[in-house]
Amino acid sequence: MTATHCPYCALQCATTLHPVARPGAVEVRPRDFPTNRGGLCRKGWTAPEVLTVPDRLTMPLVRNAAGELVETSWDSALDFVADRIKALQAAHGRDSIAVFGGGGLTNEKAYALGKFARVALKTANVDYNGRFCMSSAAAATNRAFGIDRGLPFPLADLGAAGAVLLVGSNIAETMPPAVAHLQSARDSGGLLVVDPRRSATAGLTEENAGVHLQATPGTDLALVLSLTHVVLQEGLADTAYLQERTDDPDALVRTTASWWPERAERVTGVPAATIRRAARVLAAAAPVHGGAGAFVLTGRGAEQHSKGTDTVTACINLALALGLPGRLGSGYGCITGQGNGQGGREHGQKADQLPGYRSIEDPAARSYVAQVWGVDPDELPRSGKSAVELIDSLGTADGPKAMFVHGSNLLVSAPNLASVRDRLAALDLLVVADVVPSETALLADVVFPVTQWAEEDGTMTSLEGRVLRRRAAVAAPGEVRSDLAVFAGIAERLGVEGFSTDPAAVFEELRRASAGGRADYSGITWERLDADEALFWPVPHEGHPGTPRLFADGFPTADGRAHVVPVDHRPVADDLSTDAPLYLVTGRLLQHYQSGAQTRRVPELAEAEPEVYAEIHPRVAAQLGIGDGRPLRLRTARGSMVLPARVTADVRPDTVFVPFHFGGAEAVNELTNDVLDPVSRMPEFKACAVEVTAAALP
Ligand code: SF4
Repeated sequence: MTATHCPYCALQCATTLHPVARPGAVEVRPRDFPTNRGGLCRKGWTAPEVLTVPDRLTMPLVRNAAGELVETSWDSALDFVADRIKALQAAHGRDSIAVFGGGGLTNEKAYALGKFARVALKTANVDYNGRFCMSSAAAATNRAFGIDRGLPFPLADLGAAGAVLLVGSNIAETMPPAVAHLQSARDSGGLLVVDPRRSATAGLTEENAGVHLQATPGTDLALVLSLTHVVLQEGLADTAYLQERTDDPDALVRTTASWWPERAERVTGVPAATIRRAARVLAAAAPVHGGAGAFVLTGRGAEQHSKGTDTVTACINLALALGLPGRLGSGYGCITGQGNGQGGREHGQKADQLPGYRSIEDPAARSYVAQVWGVDPDELPRSGKSAVELIDSLGTADGPKAMFVHGSNLLVSAPNLASVRDRLAALDLLVVADVVPSETALLADVVFPVTQWAEEDGTMTSLEGRVLRRRAAVAAPGEVRSDLAVFAGIAERLGVEGFSTDPAAVFEELRRASAGGRADYSGITWERLDADEALFWPVPHEGHPGTPRLFADGFPTADGRAHVVPVDHRPVADDLSTDAPLYLVTGRLLQHYQSGAQTRRVPELAEAEPEVYAEIHPRVAAQLGIGDGRPLRLRTARGSMVLPARVTADVRPDTVFVPFHFGGAEAVNELTNDVLDPVSRMPEFKACAVEVTAAALP
């Protein structure tokens, strides 16, 4: 029996894996743990299926002269890639090579990937798919609190809350075991959900008089400004907290003064009375009013917008108005999505970061990390381009000519896929490391077959900032090796030392590199993790117990106060027009995880949700002559697709919802907008104008 964690989402449900007769296969059982309390969702129960899928990659592949991917050896694939890199860098410079990482990689792989880019390839062009995930929340929390840890408190703290406001988070489908932590708020009538759909989570508000605020897509910011307006105008704010613990309480009043509920109703479509009621329920649960505790939590629905950082900032400002951050049993947090969405953003995969969640532009950080890496700090690259900007530059005159992709399936998960496809095709060399022939791997020139969860040791960091051990239970098949072997193999061929294939050794180096940084892992050892110590970063030395709760004594800003950043509403970048009169909203399903590369290969999950579809309101469907199950065409400024309709009153009449887990002709990201948030560089996945017409199936 091997104790480990689910391979998928950031809840990182605890499991045990048990041997079965079939080679490479295991059986999974849930393990009691504070986040999942012995529960698993359908994805977790079926995760072992991915270990033995029929099209598992087991040998390196190289594209031959006929354009076919053919099997080869690791040595020959590594030699080929290293020779191409040398030639491209000689002709076009160091930045002609790019590296794209993923939020599902272990901490060790994420750390090694950032070091590989900066030290072995010496390129500034490295970023990762977390830019598409929670980067707006990271940007907002960094500027408000001086630090970004998704939940700055254990998830179990929600368990006694009187109210929880979920803004754009559908945890009943994305991480069902987490719903158990909402029970107290549900029982109190304090579950408040902002979502343009009646999602599974929004449906929970219908018991015990919770509140579903079914806002027009792209208007969460206006709605939250109005909630804060009500809190301030009705004398519900924690004025002592605002004076003592924030830098500019007056800014809250200034930025919300004009957002009275009747005005917000005109923008958001949420009745003014509902806004007032939600604000009062949330406030009543706040400690300042003797309540049981209140939380404001954001998810991708709030964050994946061109104003995502400001929307999260408004949520933080609401939490500050009520005196929640840093109070036991209350707070603001971001529900991180990807399995290592938290750790993946701490160890140097981001364009502007070094390990320890340090800025790559900070001279002291450059100097310290360069010393750990044994290189000259002046030789370390500076900030590179963010994910979408990096993709947009691929194959251009000044852009990268080659790219490594690890733990990411860009041809499903990136916005405006026609453009992504063009840019990837323009590369001289695309190298993809994956466990299955994903849509992106099938476009590559070289594919490395790499280990997955139950075949590897390492660490992951959950949505709470708790560091967890991932443990190998089975041998990897065929010639499968860790991503670490790609980094070490290429580095060696480039004449660069210091890349280990041993995850324990990489973690030891990561500890040293993170020491003194914001995400300080220096006191965490595998021995402590193996002894089941609950270690939430920062853990600055081995005698330190970890930091489950942040902000109790102040915020890690220059003045120790939370910063109130003024923000205001602005429309969706690609807003409605007579040609495109509805909003297209994308999201997630219970049965699938992210780009679906794994879950679409699990028969039970694929049978339950086999294909893409579009949810459309019955009134609109009738107007357009579209019946349930019949084809419709969606057309945006980026492209069009035909898919079956699901006619349901769960969506607003002005909204069409499409899940994004499907590839090829079923990929809704063909239609989504790649306009960026100016602060986080997050694309606007969550809202764009769409034309809907009846269609014939292709
Ligand atoms: Fe738990 Fe998430 Fe895995 Fe489901 S997908 S079992 S919620 S970790």
